[in-house]
Amino acid sequence: MKNYFFKTATIIITTIIVASCSSNGDKPATTETSEAENHKIDTLIAIQDSPQQMPAYLFAGQYDELLNEILPEGTAESSINAFLLERGDKMVLFDAGLGEERNGQLLAKLDSLGIKTEQITDICITHFHGDHIGGLLTANGEAVFKNAKLHFSDLELEAWTTGPLQDRNEQVNSMLTAYADRYETFHAGDTIIDGIVTIAAPGHTPGHTLFDIGDAIIVGDLLHAVDLQIEHPEFSSLYDFNPLEARETRISMLEKIRNSHKPMAGMHFPEPFIIKL
Ligand SMILES: [Zn+2]
Repeated sequence: MKNYFFKTATIIITTIIVASCSSNGDKPATTETSEAENHKIDTLIAIQDSPQQMPAYLFAGQYDELLNEILPEGTAESSINAFLLERGDKMVLFDAGLGEERNGQLLAKLDSLGIKTEQITDICITHFHGDHIGGLLTANGEAVFKNAKLHFSDLELEAWTTGPLQDRNEQVNSMLTAYADRYETFHAGDTIIDGIVTIAAPGHTPGHTLFDIGDAIIVGDLLHAVDLQIEHPEFSSLYDFNPLEARETRISMLEKIRNSHKPMAGMHFPEPFIIKL
């Protein structure tokens, strides 16, 4: 199999730091390039909230022979990640992981990077699943990020409040209550927060959104198992709300991302969390 993992050395001018410290409180591993330092515009930090394995059965019932061939162990290496973009005076978080209650490491790793939750100015949310918004709330349902404004898709909000996902929206309602005066919806295609372009990527959820930050694309849950779905984007996972739409989106988005020559940062990409096609 081709090695798709992005090497930070040559491709983009964004400094990429990978925070992958273990739960024992070690300092996060960091990777920076001298080229990046010379041309520093932004810093993008990958923060692993939780290492994961994706079981192959999530993809079963489609092309099972091929599936067994590609994932003979029955699992794919995965992860739950958030990403932090430092741009000018903004500190923008992309998704917030599981939350401490479910052993998410985001807050511990922000702390080990010397970043306080109060410093986060904005949080872009790819979609409303619990492994992406859980970290926004304390165990008591209070806002973890006291100064941040949330940004999410109008269609995602609609889907979980009046649309097809409204029957499982307890956590979404808690989030909307905790951040009641601090959220803003966008319509995919809008540019938000100093040049971040929002891109509709429906299928995984109705309002699932990718974010083009200029030097890289935050791809949310476009892929759940990199080892399988980059070469075979026709595989949808059980987590996809509309598997056929998710498949179409995945195929067309991967093509666009490949043509853009930009690396992609995925919420379920295993280390090093950022991949260049
Ligand atoms: Zn997810």
